[in-house]
Amino acid sequence: MNIAVLVKQVPDSADIKMDPKTGTLVREGVASVMNPDDRLALEAALGLKDALGGTLTALSMGPPQAVDVLSEALAMGADRGVLLSDRNFAGADTWATSYTLGRALEALMATAPLDLVVCGRQASDGDTAQIGPQVAEHLGWPQVTYAERLEMADGELLVWRRLTGGVEKVACPLPAVVTVLALERLPRWPRVGRLLWACGDKAPIESWNAADIAAPARLTGLRGSLTQVVKTFSPKSERATRWLEGGSVEQARDLVNGLRALKLL
Ligand SMILES: Cc1cc2nc3c(=O)[nH]c(=O)nc-3n(C[C@H](O)[C@H](O)[C@H](O)COP(=O)(O)OP(=O)(O)OC[C@H]3O[C@@H](n4cnc5c(N)ncnc54)[C@H](O)[C@@H]3O)c2cc1C
Repeated sequence: MNIAVLVKQVPDSADIKMDPKTGTLVREGVASVMNPDDRLALEAALGLKDALGGTLTALSMGPPQAVDVLSEALAMGADRGVLLSDRNFAGADTWATSYTLGRALEALMATAPLDLVVCGRQASDGDTAQIGPQVAEHLGWPQVTYAERLEMADGELLVWRRLTGGVEKVACPLPAVVTVLALERLPRWPRVGRLLWACGDKAPIESWNAADIAAPARLTGLRGSLTQVVKTFSPKSERATRWLEGGSVEQARDLVNGLRALKLL
């Protein structure tokens, strides 16, 4: 089974800040890691590869330093990494991102067929959960979202989907796109030997630009984006907490006076 896993490098922080002038993520001073859902996607794909054999290619679009998530993917068990990096790809919205990833998947399939594309459900920075479904649409393949377990049976992919209040089991013909939300097991740790190989000069990681995937500039990056960030800002917290001191009588008086001052009584 030949699988591609989409992995994104994200800031290692839940405290995502936007530059109000440029409308882009502030990445300076924040360490980068593999998107947590993508580690689950990799583990799910590696589980299939362990059981069935085949190849696993990790694919990422990002700046040159995003090569680190591909090294990590190789160290975990991927066979090959492809980094999509080109000035033309900068500033992409989800439409342009999924177009670019879709073109790269088509370029991969020019040399060997792919049976399955696995992504994380959601990136922890962009947070839209649109890329998986959009890539499926680009390829014209069926998609299954919210996966927590994958198995092959009688040539079909069985997917257990985690839904609110239950689990749904579906069968899906291949090729298909699956987005992974959770797993019953933890993602595996890289083995030291593989880690050294994956970070070395001989690691099978290629860098592709727009020409390599025949992606015209008008369809990628900011130019190819159908949406435009008009303004970004952090929401201001309008709530303030005031603790009432003293005994219950003083507190009740203080509360009534406070509510009167706010013209709420
Ligand atoms: C107008 C506009 C301009 C933008 N400009 C910038 C910008 O200048 N710089 C910037 O950093 N962001 C920018 N963004 C954000 C960027 O569009 C998103 O980060 C990106 O499209 C992916 O969407 P997401 O993060 O919501 O991914 P989700 O849809 O939440 O991700 C789901 C899954 O898709 C896969 N995936 C997502 N992105 C990638 C990727 N790049 N490579 C491989 N797999 C991936 C992963 O498996 C991930 O788990 C911009 C967004 C808009 C709307």
